[in-house]
Amino acid sequence: MVYLHELRQPVSTLRGAGPSIVSRLGRLGITTIADLLTHYPRDYEDRSSFRSFSHFADGGSVHTAAIVTAHEWFGFGRMKTLKILVSDESSEAALICFNRPFLEKTLPVGAKVVVHGKFQFRYGEIQSSAFDVERLEEGANPITGLVPVYPLTEGLAQGVMRKLIHAAIEMYGCRVENEIDPAVIAERKLLPKAQALAFIHFPGAIAEREAALRTLAYEELFKFQLSIALRIRARRSQSLPRKPAAGILAERLLQRLPFSLTPDQTKVLAEIAADMDEPHPMARLLQGDVGSGKTIVALLAALRAVERGGQVAIMAPTELLARQHAATAAKLIEPLGIHLAFLTGNVDDAARPPLLEALKAGAIDIVIGTHALFSPDVVYKSLKFIVIDEQHRFGVMQRIALYKKGDIPDMLMMTATPIPRSLALTLFGDLAVSSIKNLPPGRKPVKTHLAKAGNESKVYDFVRNIIREGRQAFFVYPLIDQSIDQPDKASLKSAEEMAGRLATEIYPEFSVSLLHSKLKEDKKRRIMDDFVSGATKILVATTVVEVGVDVPNAAVMVIEHAERFGLSALHQLRGRIGRSEYQSFCFLIYSGDITEDAVQRLKALYDSSDGFALAEEDLKIRGPGELLGTAQSGALRLLIADPLRDFELLKLARADAFAVVKDDPDFIKAGHGVYRRGLDSI
Ligand code: ADP
Ligand code: MG
Repeated sequence: MVYLHELRQPVSTLRGAGPSIVSRLGRLGITTIADLLTHYPRDYEDRSSFRSFSHFADGGSVHTAAIVTAHEWFGFGRMKTLKILVSDESSEAALICFNRPFLEKTLPVGAKVVVHGKFQFRYGEIQSSAFDVERLEEGANPITGLVPVYPLTEGLAQGVMRKLIHAAIEMYGCRVENEIDPAVIAERKLLPKAQALAFIHFPGAIAEREAALRTLAYEELFKFQLSIALRIRARRSQSLPRKPAAGILAERLLQRLPFSLTPDQTKVLAEIAADMDEPHPMARLLQGDVGSGKTIVALLAALRAVERGGQVAIMAPTELLARQHAATAAKLIEPLGIHLAFLTGNVDDAARPPLLEALKAGAIDIVIGTHALFSPDVVYKSLKFIVIDEQHRFGVMQRIALYKKGDIPDMLMMTATPIPRSLALTLFGDLAVSSIKNLPPGRKPVKTHLAKAGNESKVYDFVRNIIREGRQAFFVYPLIDQSIDQPDKASLKSAEEMAGRLATEIYPEFSVSLLHSKLKEDKKRRIMDDFVSGATKILVATTVVEVGVDVPNAAVMVIEHAERFGLSALHQLRGRIGRSEYQSFCFLIYSGDITEDAVQRLKALYDSSDGFALAEEDLKIRGPGELLGTAQSGALRLLIADPLRDFELLKLARADAFAVVKDDPDFIKAGHGVYRRGLDSI
């Protein structure tokens, strides 16, 4: 008996898997029997009953037994294509065999076949070019029931994949062992693993497929949660005795603030402070919508670490944002006698060595920067507290790299892209979560308007009036400039082109500047400084202004080609405004030919300004991989479970896994041996 992932025999051991098939499977990432058996169907076709050609227009697929009546060819040269005429008891139909000339030999006139596929009435006949056909030997029964449909690659047919997987199940399937305590299998009414595996590929009925899916999804989620529970336990076992911080520095900062904290800010700060007094390191996610005031919470928490004599590193994904944090900290914290430093990849050669020396010697209390904070040559004397702002922009490995610079540091990760609960429980399942739900008082909700391309001039006029009242505006475009190597994007307006047009034709009376990622850092800084000071009225930009940028006087956000942006990017961009008592406006200008997904995105944004609701919506439209971005989706490698679809199962599996780790962390009890072995083989 073996665990499924231990079936490492090469697929070439299966009958029918010759070198060309093996190489095609390789393209799908399938090299072993285990890979093949976990290549789960993406769908099933219901062939439980026959539907003849005459029913082609009813919706659904035709599934019928027929006889080959003739072969015809049409087209010339390389385009020459075979057409096989077939007939069942009701009518005639044509099979258009693109790239399948070999069917002439395998399906001679007079052969009995079973045909499955979607048919249409075209060129005076019922025809299909996307069909499955199978020759019936005399006396053989056609496939009925639910037939799996697999993700494929070029040159690999459904039939071949089905046969291979069928063979693998026959040869190895019954040897596959349960990876979950039999008591849990009974209690949660799961199938034995071997049976689930057979049913997921070749279910006799929908109920079997569902039971199999539930079993395999539960198992996958359970194992994921088990590893999370063990990770939490490992962290808690790192003993870190510490005296509670009195919070004197934080208190002094609070007194200097021009505002008082909102109830939510006070609440999350208390959660963080309590966590930082626990005798083991903190790992906490602080989520709060754009503009909810996370920065000040992080600074207040950082001061508690400084008070205990530790160093703090605050990491932001862009230099722009890091610089903004550094400026805020300089204003608020430096007067308290705290030593600050700013470290990015662009700190010049002369300044860098003394800065690194000071960090190493402990002369710097708080360092703010980009990923340069964990460069190999950076050494901390005693890094005790790490803040990662806009954490979704960083990969797991980058977080770990910074963590390793520390001395069992507390970690605070911040995000304005709220994470739907389903993902929070999986990807961030080992983090404690604090949420800021309400924005600081006195803010007016942003008014969002949709405008079709062609009506820009109305928007431009409206914006002119707002700027005349003293406000400032962002104009955002999907491209920096028209690149020749992107002809498909030739019709898009670019930031560069529009900066020119806005400055000369549209708003000659206002100062306009252009900001994008390709500018030199000191240039970016000057442009940003001018916008913050109000010297520039209009900032034309790409999504560089997406994260973090805080300019309260900016009350207008115009996004052209809005259909080109993802939902979370749009929400983030809109979050740049509405940060003051003035009424703010967001204009989403979209072009005519726009995909269904884009319509959904813009509608969602128009309907809601609640980041949590939008994140759920985004998850539905794009799925977890896309939502998380490449930096994070790799960490969520689920083969069959879908945290959103299987949310109830996820909660169940989590509770079960956490109960096991709590009750029997070393997996000594009867029935828990499977977990011990599971861990050994990871
Ligand atoms: P985010 O959570 O998006 O990072 P920031 O921390 O940048 O938001 O805060 C947005 C703005 O709100 C900043 O200008 C900040 O000074 C201001 N702010 C934060 N907390 C409060 C508060 N309690 N009352 C009023 N303004 C606040
Ligand atoms: Mg922020």
